[in-house]
Amino acid sequence: MPALSYKYRLYPNRAQVAGLDAMLGAFCDLYNASLQQRIEAYRRQGKTLRYVDQASELKGVRAADDRFAVYSFSAEQQVLRRLDKAFRAFFGRLKKGKAGFPRFRAKSMFDSADFRVGDGLTIRKNKRIGVAGIPGEIKVKWHRDIPAGAKVGAAVVSRSAGKWFVCFQVTMPDGGVQPRDGASVGIDVGLSSLIATSDGEAVMAPQWTKQATKKQRRLQRALARAKRGSKRRLKAKCRLARHSAATANRRRDFLHKLARSLVDRYAFIALEDLSVDRLARSMLSKAVHNAAWGQLRSFLEYKAANAGVRVEAVDPRGTSQTCPDCGTVVAKTLSDRVHRCDCGCVLDRDVAAAKVILHRAIHGKGPGHGLRTPSQRVAA
Ligand SMILES: [Zn+2]
Repeated sequence: MPALSYKYRLYPNRAQVAGLDAMLGAFCDLYNASLQQRIEAYRRQGKTLRYVDQASELKGVRAADDRFAVYSFSAEQQVLRRLDKAFRAFFGRLKKGKAGFPRFRAKSMFDSADFRVGDGLTIRKNKRIGVAGIPGEIKVKWHRDIPAGAKVGAAVVSRSAGKWFVCFQVTMPDGGVQPRDGASVGIDVGLSSLIATSDGEAVMAPQWTKQATKKQRRLQRALARAKRGSKRRLKAKCRLARHSAATANRRRDFLHKLARSLVDRYAFIALEDLSVDRLARSMLSKAVHNAAWGQLRSFLEYKAANAGVRVEAVDPRGTSQTCPDCGTVVAKTLSDRVHRCDCGCVLDRDVAAAKVILHRAIHGKGPGHGLRTPSQRVAA
């Protein structure tokens, strides 16, 4: 069962904001000091420090410095883990020949802390949360409930464009969800619509996405014009960050609702495995849809897992070029919006593709369903 995230807005008071900022500042210092230690150990002794080496010193650090002692021990361990992760990623890249050494982090960019729930961060009886080292209890807006019986493991407290959040990682007990009976559907990432379904439904990307992109460009230009280090630049930066965060929120909200409506209506969902598809990258509108698609797909997958709905991803190659009724290849260019086959099948192109996707998920890639010759390679 996949872990789910439940994210909530926090409403800390002024003293708590100061406390949270100070905590992230201390964690950032810890991160940078640990990075410094790793670099020096390597320079002086050619020794590569590991997580366990640094974690075993943490107790001493806390005893010597009050600034670290007041915060959660396990959250500080997570800071060291984060550095360890950065090093692992670095060694991974090194093997591929592209190294980018882990960097010192700026306080303004060190925006989150990881906790274990019940250890350093607790959910109190009054539904507020307590964080070690932060005065009082922090108000939470519980806009949805964590499901009953769920196990709450980790929590991430984060700061984004001046707002504070907590995100809980939740796992559901195994065997709790039985597969559901019901209708099947295929979903295609459309050219003109965001998605089209095999039932003939086309969901357009919401109107505001276009305006949001325009505004984003305008704000970026304003930022580029502002002089470095000026007050105006700082303001422009804030404005851009706030706009990006708001757009991301709106998109997430829209996709959550779309995923929810699909999972509520269907018991089996077939979709494209777009990691396979390289052709799609050439088309801009499709690329934009793909960005939203990745998010939609992950929302769909975890909501489905929790509702007993099956999701299957199929090879998307040729899905837009195949007739869903008879399986022959009907070549189309990007401007052909309608699928018109000699067998009499006439459908919206995206809907036809969605039908082929559903067929593939159920029957596999049978003869005629997606087989094509190289000369018929037209952008998917
Ligand atoms: Zn046909």
